Amino acid sequence: MSKVYASAIVGALACQKDSYLKTLTTKVVSCVALTVPKPSKSKSKVIPPVETPRYEVEFEDTILFPEGGGQPSDTGVLHVIESDVTIPVFSVRRDGLVARHAVPEPLTPGATVTMNLTWGRRMDHMQQHTGQHLLSAVLDNYELATLSWSMGAGVQAGGDAILNYLDIPRKLTNDEIKSVQHEVNEHIQAALPIRVVVPESLEDGNTKTHKLPGDYDASKGVIRVIEIGGEEDDTSSKELKSKSTRLDHNTCCGTHLSSTSQIGSLVLLHQIPHKATQSRLYFIAGDRVPIYMQQCHTKLRSVNAALSCQMADIEANLTRISLQVRDLTSREKFWMSQAALHEATVLREKLSKSKVAILYLPEASLDFFNLVIKELGEEPLKQATVVLAGGAGKDGGAIVVAGVNVPDIVNEVLKFAPKARGGGKGRWQGKVNEWESGAVELLVEHITNLA
Ligand SMILES: [Zn+2]
Repeated sequence: MSKVYASAIVGALACQKDSYLKTLTTKVVSCVALTVPKPSKSKSKVIPPVETPRYEVEFEDTILFPEGGGQPSDTGVLHVIESDVTIPVFSVRRDGLVARHAVPEPLTPGATVTMNLTWGRRMDHMQQHTGQHLLSAVLDNYELATLSWSMGAGVQAGGDAILNYLDIPRKLTNDEIKSVQHEVNEHIQAALPIRVVVPESLEDGNTKTHKLPGDYDASKGVIRVIEIGGEEDDTSSKELKSKSTRLDHNTCCGTHLSSTSQIGSLVLLHQIPHKATQSRLYFIAGDRVPIYMQQCHTKLRSVNAALSCQMADIEANLTRISLQVRDLTSREKFWMSQAALHEATVLREKLSKSKVAILYLPEASLDFFNLVIKELGEEPLKQATVVLAGGAGKDGGAIVVAGVNVPDIVNEVLKFAPKARGGGKGRWQGKVNEWESGAVELLVEHITNLA
């Protein structure tokens, strides 16, 4: 008769009782094969990557947290004692009250495994998540409830992808930002204790309860309350003491640090408008702070070097450059139209004596050529054809052919620019990615000779 193993339920997993456990020896309760999508016929020879999770395993207990409370799931490594095999855990998901671990290989129910947590990832998650608890608790004192929050991707994502945000009912003023930042700093420096308690009832009115996921059976599960600050349970005057010093009292399933000091630092960043009146406040915490700081500083240094100025002058320099660009764009437009008028006059003169004419200008763009054709007008192109070519060398350039016998003239052009691609009815517009050495000079000579 097979042995039936009972497993710890989500809410009372080893990782939720002690978020600092890095290793645990436990047993496999069940292992279910996942349906791996079949490769399409055309890709039948493609072998799925080895990272593909193929089985989901339930253990008697786990130190790998399943996703929840805004905190992503843990990853880790399993060492199967009997077979001396090591396999990775890609992710863990909560399925009702059960934690299911995604692995690439099957495990036998009853097998003993030693589980090892990817600690760096967990610590990072705990710093961001606990930081959010602290920030939300401070914002509560400003009558600003946290409406939702999101943890940024891991540090490997880099850039702004690592930033967290929370949504609050309105925008904070600059003074409020300073005050909130100051209070958060003070709470971190005060090394407030953080505890998880499992109350018999939540009906004391002091606990902020978050809606439980629909598939979490609270009657069989465990409701956990996270306390920041306050004092250890004292049966004689528990209510009085905890109420007076407690900063936060919140239901949450995640894993948390044991002291606010371990958040290290938390920095408020920018806000953006969200929905009608809400504000999305970005923040970053823990070891992500120095990583982000270094990234920003490196980028700032390269901006300083590019602008040949110090940090204090960047904005003034960018404003000046922006005005210069606007001015130059306006001037370029004027001189381009003047040049197009001139080139059109020259072409009109040539076309009055021949059936085809070519204009080659290394600096000319497609926009310029279209201006030239506009200035040229329809009349000369009813009897003749123009070839307009631009660019040089490896940068290639634009080619336009307009007028009569366009397909025939395009064929002549392609003899010198065989890789050019283009099309269009009446007027042929194309691009050559690279002018071979001497090709454009030969093209000019050839078209001139056709005339
Ligand atoms: Zn939490």
